[in-house]
Amino acid sequence: MKTSKSDRLFREASALLVGGVSSPVRAFKSVGGNPVFIERGRGPWVWDVDGNRYIDFVQSYGAVFLGHANPLLTKAVTAAARRGTVLGAPVPEEIHLARSIRKAFPMLELIRFVNSGTEATMSAVRAARGFTGRSRIVKFAGCYHGHSDGLLAKAGSGAATLSLPDSSGVPASFVAETRVVPYNDVEALRRLFAAEGREIAAVIVEPIAANMGLVRPRDGFLREIRRMTSEHGTVLIFDEVISGFRVRHGGAVEWSGIRPDLVCLGKIMGGGLPVGAYGGGKDIMECVAPLGPVYQAGTLAGNRAAMACGAAAVDWLATRKPYLALEKTTQKFAGALAKLAESHGYEVQVPWVCGMFTLFFSPRPVVSYEDALACDRPAFSRFFHAALANGLYVPPSPFEACFVSPFHTKKILAGALKRWEKAFRDMGEAKA
Ligand code: PLP
Repeated sequence: MKTSKSDRLFREASALLVGGVSSPVRAFKSVGGNPVFIERGRGPWVWDVDGNRYIDFVQSYGAVFLGHANPLLTKAVTAAARRGTVLGAPVPEEIHLARSIRKAFPMLELIRFVNSGTEATMSAVRAARGFTGRSRIVKFAGCYHGHSDGLLAKAGSGAATLSLPDSSGVPASFVAETRVVPYNDVEALRRLFAAEGREIAAVIVEPIAANMGLVRPRDGFLREIRRMTSEHGTVLIFDEVISGFRVRHGGAVEWSGIRPDLVCLGKIMGGGLPVGAYGGGKDIMECVAPLGPVYQAGTLAGNRAAMACGAAAVDWLATRKPYLALEKTTQKFAGALAKLAESHGYEVQVPWVCGMFTLFFSPRPVVSYEDALACDRPAFSRFFHAALANGLYVPPSPFEACFVSPFHTKKILAGALKRWEKAFRDMGEAKA
């Protein structure tokens, strides 16, 4: 596989950008080697600067759902740009996107737009603290909620990839009010609530965890969290930055039937532009400035380009309703992948939900962060390089999900399986 142009660009980038990248997980540090530089994308395909073509299962870590360079979105962005991308004043496009989001999540009585998932979760936690007058928050090990100080504990994603259990630069006092409980462990949460329930402002959870690889909530897990938080006057925050508009139009709220108090969104709802949102009932959201005393603001928040692009994406999804078909496709693909791996002698788990899956090199089901950390990382690294060499662009980390979009047609996925088969064969040879 030719990589000379990517290698040269990486050398140039490394002289200017930290680690040569703008976000850590894009580096291939944990799997070894240099990242490939992508020249362009179209639909489910990406091409690197050396001309290698890949079927893309990264999908910008779940932000892309309508295929790369979707003409509908390109048109929305260019039309918005012609009239000014950011005006320092409210624009009608904000109302359009907020209405479209509310159709998908009717529980969002009031919404605030921000610029990223990190801002959405950080601000939702602040609103919950302002609303309850309490300080303590609970998160689950392996769930990633962006990189704000108080949420960077056992955060999965890039931190796990780089073996950083907690980030340096976060004073202990900043996480002193953060409690971390194992994902899917109702008993541990019960014990925590029994001891500290009246002090807990919020429980924040990825209702479908996708940052330690994909880990599904066990039956009853979300229901029990809902029950305990309601009983203790604690705000329940669903971080749907990945699951929103992916697993159902109404995200994991619709998928699980559990109604949280606040929802955080990002990724798909911006159609590939930087965007985030949080919202919930009026009682909590009216605490946020200018209506209330919880301060949160943003120069670029609600900018026209992102709003127009997001509205085009969300409206397309509302009309086309790709979810049930995509769910079947993902199930079939994940099943085929598991069989293929086993036929090559690998013990794997391939958990899936609509539009995403993870290939874990593990003989046991993965239901927690500990299970994810116990997977065979050297096997993953060998697999990753074999996949890349066979034209499959997958995340360079065992702790990220692979993403499938409605634009990964049956034909493309059949082709992907052939590439995957070759990758399994090649990785065996790499070991030998
Ligand atoms: N929450 C979840 C569940 C995420 O997966 C991410 C990012 O991957 C974030 C929050 C942070 O979003 P952003 O990277 O847009 O700041």
